[in-house]
Amino acid sequence: MDLTIISTFRCNSRCQMCYIWKNPTEPKDEISLETVSKLPNGFDNLNFSGGEPTLRKDLSELVDELYPKARILEISSNGLNPERLVPIIKRYPDIKVRFSMEGDEATSNAIRGEKDGFQTKLNGIRMLKEAGGTDLGFAMVIQDENAEQLVKVYDLARREGVELATSTLHNAWQFYKNDNYFYNRRKVAKEVESLITEMLKTGKVKNWFRAYLNLGLIEKILGHDRLIPCSAARDFAFIDPWSDVWACNVRSDLPLGNLARQEWDEIMNGEQAAAARKKVDACTQNCWMVTTARTAMRSRLIPQLPKLGPMSWVALNKLRVTLGRKVDFGAYVDYGHVKDSPLVPRTSFLGRKVKSEIKVQRDLATPAEHYPLAEFVNQ
Ligand code: SF4
Repeated sequence: MDLTIISTFRCNSRCQMCYIWKNPTEPKDEISLETVSKLPNGFDNLNFSGGEPTLRKDLSELVDELYPKARILEISSNGLNPERLVPIIKRYPDIKVRFSMEGDEATSNAIRGEKDGFQTKLNGIRMLKEAGGTDLGFAMVIQDENAEQLVKVYDLARREGVELATSTLHNAWQFYKNDNYFYNRRKVAKEVESLITEMLKTGKVKNWFRAYLNLGLIEKILGHDRLIPCSAARDFAFIDPWSDVWACNVRSDLPLGNLARQEWDEIMNGEQAAAARKKVDACTQNCWMVTTARTAMRSRLIPQLPKLGPMSWVALNKLRVTLGRKVDFGAYVDYGHVKDSPLVPRTSFLGRKVKSEIKVQRDLATPAEHYPLAEFVNQ
């Protein structure tokens, strides 16, 4: 099972597609080392995320506690404080680290509202490489403003000898956003095709399956059904900064329990989890985030292997690309059917005064108070 721990909603980025930074938690309310120690061993991918996880003063102790509990421990960071990760990487070189990167210097800084973000992340990834890091990379949220730069960012990652993870715009309680919509779905989706082809051209099996993940992103961007049904609360779960455990990071009506007040097994075997799984089975959302997609791709019988569908798609299209032929995207994607979506402009917060927009989440007890937008829809 994969687990994401959203350790804080404090963040020093000012992204246009994620408003966590407008809703920071108080450190005293955030999931504690004691609560984290209640998690069992044996997770597959355990993602330590945020907000910005390097803002946790007890980051080092949390990593010491979590590292032995998972096959892969991942830290998702904005990359603005790389020096805080150096001692951790020196201790555990195989920790997976991904720094957010949204395009070339001007584009990335504008989308993320970060003055010197691009250069800090680039220097930071080099710093972690020098410290011995073996699983480093960038993570990009594909949107209208940066879709044309997708292959350029992939090339940058390859030049630096690191990975590129991709995701796209979503509405989700985790992002405090329910109005993330594409301006031109078709145009954005078409840009992803080039990345898929580039990934299939490489000699890395990991990249071939990432190509399939990106095919799922095309379907998501166009508003089509998911390529593979969701397995939330079975194959993955999320914990928010208040220690509330959730089936997924999108729907705010799928709480499973609270790890500070309950035990892990009690939560996962409880009535709330059973009720949430029924709702997941009937969920009609077309979200396609890395966690939800990666777990859905795994074989139920042999989790180390992918399902037959992704495996045969990869085999066929790797062969096509190797023979110098093009991937026949029209055979998989119905570009004639693109969902309508409202036009909601996104604006950069770079250089803008934002103090008045930040409201610390204080004295709020329930998930309903924590996520007042309530409904988060992806279609
Ligand atoms: S498909 Fe539904 S249950 Fe699964 S992650 Fe998306 S919103 Fe959550």
